[in-house]
Amino acid sequence: MSHEEGKQVTGKQQEKKLSFDTRLLHFGSEVDAATGASSVPLYQASTFHHTDVFNPPLHDYTRSGNPTRQALEDYIALLEGGTNGYAFPSGMAAISATFMLFSSGDHLIVTEDVYGGTYRLLTGILNRFGLEATFVDMTNVEAVKAALRPNTKGIYIETPSNPTLKVTDISALAAWSREQGLISMVDNTFMTPYYQRPIELGVDIVLHSATKFLGGHSDVLAGLAVTANETLGRQLKYLQNGLGTVLGVQDSWLLMRGMKTLSARMAHSELSARRLAAWLSGRKDIAAVYYPGLDNHPGHDIQNRQSTGYGAVISFDVGSGERAKQVLNAVKLPIVAVSLGAVESILSYPAMMSHASMPPEVRLERGITDGLLRFSVGLEDIEDLIVDLEQALEQ
Ligand SMILES: *Cc1c(COP(=O)(O)O)cnc(C)c1O
Repeated sequence: MSHEEGKQVTGKQQEKKLSFDTRLLHFGSEVDAATGASSVPLYQASTFHHTDVFNPPLHDYTRSGNPTRQALEDYIALLEGGTNGYAFPSGMAAISATFMLFSSGDHLIVTEDVYGGTYRLLTGILNRFGLEATFVDMTNVEAVKAALRPNTKGIYIETPSNPTLKVTDISALAAWSREQGLISMVDNTFMTPYYQRPIELGVDIVLHSATKFLGGHSDVLAGLAVTANETLGRQLKYLQNGLGTVLGVQDSWLLMRGMKTLSARMAHSELSARRLAAWLSGRKDIAAVYYPGLDNHPGHDIQNRQSTGYGAVISFDVGSGERAKQVLNAVKLPIVAVSLGAVESILSYPAMMSHASMPPEVRLERGITDGLLRFSVGLEDIEDLIVDLEQALEQ
């Protein structure tokens, strides 16, 4: 196909030399080889004509493959440094399909404060199919090793975790996982490949809720998965096609459009997040600030080793549930909502939003107090955001 040929000419031979920022714009399919169009065409088609039945077209049915989705899948594989990428209709769909690599009777070791949807999937759905999971504090490598069982087949890491931003040593656990013959997986949603590329650290599969920073505009729900090798890639492709969990053509296009500005958005938001974390740390009326960019964050050194930045999500404790609700009602700039990673700032209340279904004692044990707020810093002027937060805190 001309579309595929174009990719080879413009992208593949150069990709190694180009920096991440440049690859975001020159990812191989940025110019349509057939027409010169400046963005990937929307192949809004479910099926493809066989001009010669003995020579089927590259794509024959959109569930199994579509050129627009393929461009996105190649794009994320390139950015993460993997061999194969796959696009799903949500982050949870990507994670669900990946867990289908395992079988009844298998056991997984999973980050204790994993995303709530992932916890629900493992403890409310896949447990019924005999997939077992042990949740451990992955900041403690010995605790992870101690969770190993004869039937352990995989390790699932989320770092930094949500909402208290605990940092897990990816290289250490990827190396151990390889020794034990496990499949290692990292949910890279908070960092994105701009800051952290787990495959380069030895991980087998990287997962994303692309709904967050990759999409970046709070207007598309999507998931992505990237494998470190072709064998896992083929297995995941088989699952994506078999389960039918594919990202639609329009959303694939929208996601690529958002991803082109990933570097610019992340760099801006992170600079602002650092400023906000420092400002919050300097206030006497804030009980705790969680941000891996702070020197006193317990995971700061590991974060420095495995990532090139700290991201744009900060959690902080305003002292009480009363005060948290007052702040949520008084802020004027951030939207008060679940989700994160958008051009607009998003202020969330974990105790009543993302972690509402967690028993209060478990919540408190994990530092998710009634006074905890999570701030996903967008692209507004940070001084405006600080003035707004200050008036909300001082009401
Ligand atoms: C949002 C999120 C998910 C789930 O993604 P959806 O796109 O909402 O299905 C998974 N992991 C993390 C870390 C998330 O923030």
